[in-house]
Amino acid sequence: MSSTLHVQWIVTSLIAPRPWLTCGRCGGIKPFQSSGKARLNANGKRLDAWLIYKCSDCENTWNRPLFERRNVRDIDPLLLEALQANDHRRIEVFAFDIDGLRRSAGRIEEFGEARVAKQVLTGDPASFDGIRIDLRVPLPCCLRLDRLLAAELGVSRTKIHDLHDAGVLKLSPKGERTLRRPVREGMFFELDASSVGEQVLAQAVTGSATG
Ligand SMILES: [Zn+2]
Repeated sequence: MSSTLHVQWIVTSLIAPRPWLTCGRCGGIKPFQSSGKARLNANGKRLDAWLIYKCSDCENTWNRPLFERRNVRDIDPLLLEALQANDHRRIEVFAFDIDGLRRSAGRIEEFGEARVAKQVLTGDPASFDGIRIDLRVPLPCCLRLDRLLAAELGVSRTKIHDLHDAGVLKLSPKGERTLRRPVREGMFFELDASSVGEQVLAQAVTGSATG
């Protein structure tokens, strides 16, 4: 009877994308980073909200619109409360929202640094034939899947592609292209435990190389 060890990797992006903007104070195009603070402005029943960024050289600020001229009644009260309190988690979601940032900035620098937390969901880590690893990616991350796998399993990227070609590594979504894509919520992969070394299997379950 075959048994599968079911493992979850939570891949958390560590550095929010930075817009590169012309800084009016120190001159030149400079990277700006999120200050972690939002600003709200009420105009009658209409509200504007911005996330405040700071020039990495001179601390000059740039206000990134989160929403503009929106009727208070159309805004989730919990969101409003979070913005007023500069709630760390909610602000972080905005800071990592690269699609939202693209609407306001042309040139954006992305970072692939991530922390990986591994956890066995079901199965016996001492005895299994196959392993399935689900990726949880709570914040957008530009790290490619093959880079993540190489770093976390302790092998080269060439080896990762070889394992895929040999059918030892199976991906979802299926196909080689998935390896070149950034990691995404809902991706998973499977390894045939009899065809990879014990070291690789151990790394799949515990330990973290990136971050
Ligand atoms: Zn500046």
